[in-house]
Amino acid sequence: MSQPAATAPAAEPAAPPQDAPQPAPPPAPGAEQYPALDFANSLLTLPGGPLDLLGAPGPASAWLVEHGLAPAAGRVLEPCTVRLRLFRGAVRELLDARVAGRPAPPGALAAVNEALAAAPAVALLRWDAERGLHRSLPHPADRIADRAMARLAADAADLLTGPDAERLARCGGTPCSRFYVRTHAARHWCSTRCGDRVRAARAYARKRAAKEG
Ligand SMILES: [Zn+2]
Repeated sequence: MSQPAATAPAAEPAAPPQDAPQPAPPPAPGAEQYPALDFANSLLTLPGGPLDLLGAPGPASAWLVEHGLAPAAGRVLEPCTVRLRLFRGAVRELLDARVAGRPAPPGALAAVNEALAAAPAVALLRWDAERGLHRSLPHPADRIADRAMARLAADAADLLTGPDAERLARCGGTPCSRFYVRTHAARHWCSTRCGDRVRAARAYARKRAAKEG
């Protein structure tokens, strides 16, 4: 008969290894409606450090499949992963400029327009003997990154010129830098996690100030 392990020494929580995956927060408000917003937010700064959901071909491919931007077995290789990250930088610059009320950076505009023009985002008219005339997208395995970027570019353009552009915001919960669509005017954070962190930091600062004062 063994005793319950009541006498086991309380272990110090081990520091997570450097490459331990940090849990990504749930999508920011608006990110499920606008894949381009979730794309911009795929580069995160968590309290434990940066997290890039497109950091390598494997996770980048999974991200595209999850968002319906690549076929189930679709896979992008390293050069396309790098292009996706560069394109994300352009989308982030445009969102940033819109939130701050600054002019759109010409380089970022050009990147979005190149992506729009590089691949058809709409179904084309085709004919074959079996089906006759029909509309379909180009073969799903063909130019995955180009077509994903074209669709993300179209979505970013819709977001930036549509009614939600006015409500576009950037999370104020330092170090978080996620974008979101404000659901109400007083919303300052992308998630309750960020809001709680900011409130806890403020409460701590007040306590310290009270002690010192
Ligand atoms: Zn946040």
